[in-house]
Amino acid sequence: MTTEQLVSYEEAVSRYDPVIGLETHVELGTVTKMFCGCPTTFGLPPNSAVCPVCLGLPGSLPVANRTAIEYTIRIGLALHCTIATWCRFARKNYFYPDMPKDFQISQYDEPLCTDGWMDVSVRGETIRVGIERVHLEEDTGKSLHIGGATGRIHGADYSLVDYNRAGIPLVEVVTKPVPGTGALAPVVARAYVTELRDLLRSLRVSDVRMEEGSLRCDVNTSLAPRGAAEWGTRTETKNVNSLRSVERAVKFEIERQAGVLDAGQRVVQETRHFHEDTGTTTAGRSKEEAQDYRYFPEPDLVPIAPPAEWVEQIRADLPELPAARRARLQSEWGLSDGDMTSLRNAGALELVEATVAAGASAAEASKWWLGDLARHANERGTELGELSVTPDQVARVSALVRSGTLNDGLARQVLDGVLAGEGDPDAVVAARGLAVVSDDDALAKAVDDAIAKSPDVAAKIRDGKASAVGALIGDVMAATSRRADAKRVRELILQRLS
Ligand SMILES: [Zn+2]
Repeated sequence: MTTEQLVSYEEAVSRYDPVIGLETHVELGTVTKMFCGCPTTFGLPPNSAVCPVCLGLPGSLPVANRTAIEYTIRIGLALHCTIATWCRFARKNYFYPDMPKDFQISQYDEPLCTDGWMDVSVRGETIRVGIERVHLEEDTGKSLHIGGATGRIHGADYSLVDYNRAGIPLVEVVTKPVPGTGALAPVVARAYVTELRDLLRSLRVSDVRMEEGSLRCDVNTSLAPRGAAEWGTRTETKNVNSLRSVERAVKFEIERQAGVLDAGQRVVQETRHFHEDTGTTTAGRSKEEAQDYRYFPEPDLVPIAPPAEWVEQIRADLPELPAARRARLQSEWGLSDGDMTSLRNAGALELVEATVAAGASAAEASKWWLGDLARHANERGTELGELSVTPDQVARVSALVRSGTLNDGLARQVLDGVLAGEGDPDAVVAARGLAVVSDDDALAKAVDDAIAKSPDVAAKIRDGKASAVGALIGDVMAATSRRADAKRVRELILQRLS
């Protein structure tokens, strides 16, 4: 429970300067674990993907996963890091029930990648975030606390441990402290994690699903009075598991720490838990120092010494990185910064790209993905990419609109049909009878009826007031279940009333 007096965010950032830092854990998408051959598949029955090595049984020996090392180097290179020519794993000693060896194989003073950077753009401004290190370690298992309201150990009846996750390769990306972002600090933190997620995805090293825990963030925040020479004491909010939560956690810590400092107290260096439901953090354990872990070089593993040619090969094979790709697509598509931001925030960039590749224009593709389809995804509480409509189908709908077979309203109904599993756009058009009616004979009766129904409007149009035609077009559209070709209807009405 928080007993602290919060200071409003605007007030806090008007008198204090925040410094943030992020530690991001990424589960690598290798087929097998870091030091054994067990599968890394998510969602297997508990304790079914384990062996003597990842259970830490006596006499078992680890062997490092070459692909995990390659993936880590790939991440390091994409983050402009220096790749170590020789480094070692280290034992980090501590007890945790979900860590059967009672130590974690990690890297300590000899990380594989050091001293890089990544640019993030926030409200049109580019901020360079320094990368302290990228190192490789193994994940722990997972404790499940049964009974009790919160899922935490307090109040639980008993606890179970699933070791399937123990030994999955984990990369930790640690930023340098990021000062000077002022009131934007929470947004910068979120933008950093978003950019890192996109980068990791483009590198194909992880599926980066925050909801499945394959990307997890610890968020460091400190506060010092405006213009102070020294930074304040930082807190570390653990396991913040969504982009939105990253932003909220930093914001809350700024409000809370401002309250602590205003009261003349000192911020305690500690880990804190973030609560999704309230957007608040509460104190966890006081922060351990590195010396508490009694790190020493892992005696069961040989050092990692990646040959320079291998590193250069990995560098040469890097894909186009997200920032460069966005810049290229934006210029190819002729979209504004705002449009690109919307596409990116909606997770629609790949979908629009594929829709354009299937023949739609960027404007058409953006319109459907950001409009109707985004609304459908929203209503279903799902991601755009998980909707049962493909970029090819969206491109086909766009083509049907362009050729005049569909108007926007009918196109919406076609997409509804596709989403409802009624088949391809053409099949839905045929089955639902959705094509635009532009045939003069078919429209004639509806046009005549509309004119007969509103003689006063017809009189105005005869007197040259062409703007009145809209009301009659509306009637014809209604009478034809909105299937009429509005442009042709307008022409027919004006012909008859000229
Ligand atoms: Zn194993």
